[in-house]
Amino acid sequence: MLSGLTLKELANATNGRLLGSDGTFLSVSTDTRTIQEGSVFFALVGENFDGHDFVSAAVDKGACCVVVSKKLDLNVSQCLVDDTTQALGNLASFIRQRWSKPVTAITGSCGKTTVKGMVQAIFSTIGNTLATTGNLNNHIGVPLTLFQLSENHDFAVIEMGASAVGEIDYLSKLTQPNVALINNVQPSHVEGFGSVDAIAQAKSEIYDHLADSGIAIINADDKYAAQWLEQNKHRKTIRFSTENPECEVFGKNLSINDQGYYRFDLVTPSAEKTVVLKVLGESNVMNALAAASCGVASGLSIDNIVEGLESFLPVPGRLVVKPGIECSTIIDDTYNANPGSVKAAIDVLSSYSTKTILVLGDMGELGHDSAKMHKEVGQFAQQKGIHSLFACGELSQFTCDGFGDSTHYFNDKNSLVTSLLTQLDANTTVLVKGSRSAKMEDVVNQLVLGG
Ligand code: ATP
Ligand code: MG
Repeated sequence: MLSGLTLKELANATNGRLLGSDGTFLSVSTDTRTIQEGSVFFALVGENFDGHDFVSAAVDKGACCVVVSKKLDLNVSQCLVDDTTQALGNLASFIRQRWSKPVTAITGSCGKTTVKGMVQAIFSTIGNTLATTGNLNNHIGVPLTLFQLSENHDFAVIEMGASAVGEIDYLSKLTQPNVALINNVQPSHVEGFGSVDAIAQAKSEIYDHLADSGIAIINADDKYAAQWLEQNKHRKTIRFSTENPECEVFGKNLSINDQGYYRFDLVTPSAEKTVVLKVLGESNVMNALAAASCGVASGLSIDNIVEGLESFLPVPGRLVVKPGIECSTIIDDTYNANPGSVKAAIDVLSSYSTKTILVLGDMGELGHDSAKMHKEVGQFAQQKGIHSLFACGELSQFTCDGFGDSTHYFNDKNSLVTSLLTQLDANTTVLVKGSRSAKMEDVVNQLVLGG
């Protein structure tokens, strides 16, 4: 956090009334489980909780001030505001304005966290970079990230998510980005927005708070690119593409290496260099081009950009390639599963020229269409040419029905592993996936070397 912030400044920034004495504070917290000595505690109010109930716990743990919407009887300072969530945003905005280095903001339907990680890896090759932790990308997470800005940081990368119109507008206003990216627009969360056009419109709010001297990053292969270029015609833009070589950042000569990773030539306005990613899937080429564009916008060299991209590793349990027993290749995608992500994983597996084995546990929490969705996943794997399916879990019987021949169904994971071990060789790739509740990492651990 920036040093020397005072409670008076907090009160000014939040349009609040300071009751008690002034002083400096060291951090901000909304959670008494992680609060630190010298923090300001914001008593947020949600549908199922009221932070005001935790104020005395916060004080016991060393909070030096609490931000509340009703006056309490306390022996520490309090800042009385109308709405504590709004106040959290106002303080974040104040802190952002006191920080003069470049902020990159990222939104889009998918790949935000991935691109954020790639941009963080790129910036980290030359400076200390603050980035959103995990998926803290909403009206609470973005302020909490901005509070961490400090004199020691050279760059900041902020992920922004939205499930309704106006949310990105709010987050972008707080963040005041110097570089802003919409990674893509896809029909996810359509319920909240009404239509895909409305999603595109909502994402475009990110550009509304970009300084005129800022740079808009545009996915030129997205259907809405022309609209975004028009919106940014008065400022500098950087377009990225795998289709149009006239774009400032262009990816060409895409190929897949022996481990299944994409390799491509990255072309920037000043140079060209080959990149070999360490994450699977073609969508990560576009993610890498988006991240490279953010690097170009912030003036990094192509060497730093490529070094950053090549150092970026997948999150554990998400399409992680591991050396398997008998020189087989194991892809660990056991983090979680739903029909969309299982199909994406099947696409990745089907790109391998080896024998391909899909190992699936159940997909949980799918409601009354569960059986149908499992069956569809099985059919999809069959259509994609996966050689065999090993499955366990009650619902996975339907996946087997969908797949048809070459299915191996087991009542438990151990018997699945025993049978699968006889199939492994250097010409076999196995992808393992299931919902969190299926804990399919138990299978992976028995297939990998040293597991
Ligand atoms: P969330 O909305 O949960 O924050 P996100 O936008 O941060 O998601 P990631 O966590 O980076 O997205 O990726 C989630 C999944 O989206 C990945 O596992 C992958 O299947 C898919 N994905 C990632 N990038 C792309 C892309 N560029 N195009 C299409 N799908 C993608
Ligand atoms: Mg995310």
